[in-house]
Amino acid sequence: MNTFQDLGLNKDLLQAITDMGFETPSDVQAKAIPILLEKETDLVALAQTGTGKTAAFGFPMLQKININSRTTQGLILSPTRELCLQITNEMKQYGKYCKGLNVVAIYGGASITDQAREVKRGAQIIVATPGRMKDMIKRKMVDISKIEYSVLDEADEMLNMGFKEDITDILSHTPEDKNTWLFSATMPKEVSNIAKKFMKSPIEITVGNKNESTNQVSHEYYLVNARDRYQALKRLADANPDIFSVIFCRTKRDTQKVAENLIEDGYSAGALHGDLSQNQRDLVMKSFRNKQIQMLVATDVAARGIDVDDITHVINYQLPDEPEVYTHRSGRTGRAGKTGISMVIVSKSEVRKIKSIERIINQKFELKEIPDGMEICEVQLMSLANKINNTEINHEIDKYLESINDLFADTTKDELIKKFFSVEFTRFFNYYQKTKNLNVTDTSRGEDRDRGGRAFSGGSNGSRYFINVGRKDGYDWMKLKDFLKEVLELGRDDVFKVDVKESFSFFNTEKEHQEKVLAFFTDFKHDGRFVNVEISEDKGGGTSRNKRRRDGGGSKRRSDDKPRGDRRSSFRGDGNRSDRRSSGSRSDRSDRRSSSSNETRSRRTESSTSSERPRRSRR
Ligand code: ADP
Ligand code: MG
Repeated sequence: MNTFQDLGLNKDLLQAITDMGFETPSDVQAKAIPILLEKETDLVALAQTGTGKTAAFGFPMLQKININSRTTQGLILSPTRELCLQITNEMKQYGKYCKGLNVVAIYGGASITDQAREVKRGAQIIVATPGRMKDMIKRKMVDISKIEYSVLDEADEMLNMGFKEDITDILSHTPEDKNTWLFSATMPKEVSNIAKKFMKSPIEITVGNKNESTNQVSHEYYLVNARDRYQALKRLADANPDIFSVIFCRTKRDTQKVAENLIEDGYSAGALHGDLSQNQRDLVMKSFRNKQIQMLVATDVAARGIDVDDITHVINYQLPDEPEVYTHRSGRTGRAGKTGISMVIVSKSEVRKIKSIERIINQKFELKEIPDGMEICEVQLMSLANKINNTEINHEIDKYLESINDLFADTTKDELIKKFFSVEFTRFFNYYQKTKNLNVTDTSRGEDRDRGGRAFSGGSNGSRYFINVGRKDGYDWMKLKDFLKEVLELGRDDVFKVDVKESFSFFNTEKEHQEKVLAFFTDFKHDGRFVNVEISEDKGGGTSRNKRRRDGGGSKRRSDDKPRGDRRSSFRGDGNRSDRRSSGSRSDRSDRRSSSSNETRSRRTESSTSSERPRRSRR
């Protein structure tokens, strides 16, 4: 069965599915929909976030209810207001050809009387958060005594958030003979207890392995001294210019502080935690969705509602107390078929927690190194070069061209390029040249820092190369390594320190292979485009620590301890900060406002939206 038609859905739903562009059912949909359509049964479905659970219960519910009746027949409970609204919207989309359908969302933080009015108009389906639902039952604003289908969506999250009592209370107002469909990403004891308590011999379906996080996500950890946590975070961000991430902290206070520091340092960041008003949270989420915020710093509870598909990185600024929670965090990335990276910044005393998380997610972490300053400079420089290469020319400039040409009449192309890049690069370089290595050696795990197997041995780093393919082209480090090994006909460990960025990557080989590598890529086309490889100045990865700029020491250290925004900012493609300050432009004003309110920062980066497909250029 691999079409929606095969699942037994009616014409109206199939039309909506076509409109939405869904082509084939996801696993959980293919398994759940036929069962729910054919049988009056309880169901427990285990599937990761982003696997399409909403449609798995949404389509059958829409098909089974009687739209000609105004009685409330379906109740969907979900943990957060965000999810509640999202499910409501999805249900409306799915049911757009079901005439007379009324789906109503019920959640805290908005007018209860408005919601009650909506329900009164006749809502066949209610989507609710448990707290508000309980409230409305108590105030007799809803009648769920004729419910036929109830859904517990993201059951593990609801229980995590302490909604057990509320759920129990709500379900006690529903008929005995209704069907309950429970959807969850993980199956901790509390969820199976709920299933036992409220469900009658449910059919169980599982997509992927139980309690296993998706293998779309690779897991990395970085070992640093606790006091260097923040510096490490900044470097991870700087080494990934196109980052679009959620950063998890343990407390509201840390969340607020990290976000404030990032904003002060010139990053597009925002905080999301329970001490903000609903309005503030909405604003932050809106900016995040629009990618005006690249780094969303959040508490676990506040992040539960985040359902954004293209998050590239989850960064665990601190590990959660409960290893289970890590699954929820890392599940924020690698959604909708995309790959993602979950990074953990740990101090030595926390390393053992990594082990217990590995057991839960059934996946290994890779120990990686915080990039050193020069590596970051190179990444930023190449990212800028790529951006320039892909920039569409604005012909408004043409009329000034003559005077500009006059000015540069005696400048060679090389010089001009160098000058141009120096505008952006020097400040960045000045900041990073004095910084220290942040990595701490882990003696407890006894494994290599690099899967290529040499980084730590003090052996040679060989030659470092730049290659113009990256994550955008579907590569992660394993895929790129395999690809290089194959085309270059090299052995298992001959390609190492593979470091994949958004639109380009780096890798190393032994010096003896250098000639072969460069010769091979002189005119190499792959998937219809030229793949360009050149020698990179930086040696990359671990051993650079032995060679270069250890600790800045003494007075030099200060610059790393007290970074300033203007040092790093301009690589984000939005011009010189101090210029903007004096110009008093709109974006400048909103900057200041957002730093003080800590909501959004409107410093957009073009890089997150513009296509940065590398071309064959730098030769
Ligand atoms: P989950 O509840 O499992 O986290 P969602 O139901 O929120 O996942 O779906 C994740 C995303 O995938 C949504 O944007 C949804 O519209 C989309 N989606 C769901 N089913 C399909 C499908 N069969 N084909 C393509 N996209 C889908
Ligand atoms: Mg969902």
